[in-house]
Amino acid sequence: MRDAQDRPIRYLRLSLTEACQMRCVYCRPALLTQSSQPGRLTPNEIESVVRHLVAEHGLTKVRLTGGDPTARPDLIEIIERLARIDGIRDLAMTTNGLSLASRAKDYADAGLGRVNVSLDSLDPKRFAKMTGVDALGRVLAGIDAAIEAGLTPVKLNTVVLHNENLADLPALVGYAARRGVEIRFIELMPMGPLADRWAERYVPASRMRNALAQVAVGWQTVPQGSDSAQVYDLELRGGRHARIGFITPMSCNFCSACNRLRITSDGSVYPCLMDQPRGNITDAVRPGFDADLFDRLLSNAIQAKAPEHPVTGVAVMTQIGG
Ligand code: SAM
Repeated sequence: MRDAQDRPIRYLRLSLTEACQMRCVYCRPALLTQSSQPGRLTPNEIESVVRHLVAEHGLTKVRLTGGDPTARPDLIEIIERLARIDGIRDLAMTTNGLSLASRAKDYADAGLGRVNVSLDSLDPKRFAKMTGVDALGRVLAGIDAAIEAGLTPVKLNTVVLHNENLADLPALVGYAARRGVEIRFIELMPMGPLADRWAERYVPASRMRNALAQVAVGWQTVPQGSDSAQVYDLELRGGRHARIGFITPMSCNFCSACNRLRITSDGSVYPCLMDQPRGNITDAVRPGFDADLFDRLLSNAIQAKAPEHPVTGVAVMTQIGG
């Protein structure tokens, strides 16, 4: 499966729901409150789509996202169905981490490979202010449970905001080093509730790097395959090492290597996180899977994939899945 720029599309990001238990300041509009969406894709429909993409179009990687995938009561069934598909080399999930302390083992037993967990601060007050939930301890316990359950490599995601958590980066890197997990610092994208104030709140990766100068004595580039992060092995004062990444959609976009396709829980197809939906596959999966119609819809969507992401996103991440 190749787009008009001849980029191979091998990676599906599947947003399972718009619902999320958190209210992150940069992500979720407070008005979006529904916890169930009528008409969303069922586990069986999701399995048909992914089986077809793997068998016919060379898909190798699936990430479950949202909203928060854990807000779906049928998440375990979805994981089990996808884990049975031969040809998926990487089945991952991005989550806020709230359910991991109690469910990490269940997710691993169902066949999930690994998790990325959002962690914006180690300061309980700032964590609560940024996420809308006073639950830092629960998320940290969840990260430990994910490591224990073998959902590895666990990666942490931190969206960095001016006047908020830039000063927390050294502590976050120290924590990641102690836990042996990778942490990735993400540039704010101009979508969602902070889109209008993006210029005031955006921190480029160069400033994040400066903020780490007080704890870092050495930076070694770690070559990446198709990953969107610039990854470094950081030598910290005192001799510990941390693996850190910068995800730089704004200062240095990685569109030329983009291999992603996004399908949301209502069947919308987004060839790009910041673009509008380019079709909906619901008619191709309901009442039964129609491969010809699916391929026509998919091809239209993929050919509309922009060479570079638009300047401002039209939607919020909870709809499309970051
Ligand atoms: N609920 C899950 C979570 O908390 O990670 C998965 C969905 S969340 C939308 C996926 C990722 O998008 C998170 O790492 C989040 O921090 C990031 N994100 C959301 N809004 C963003 C924005 N405006 N700019 C950059 N990253 C954003």
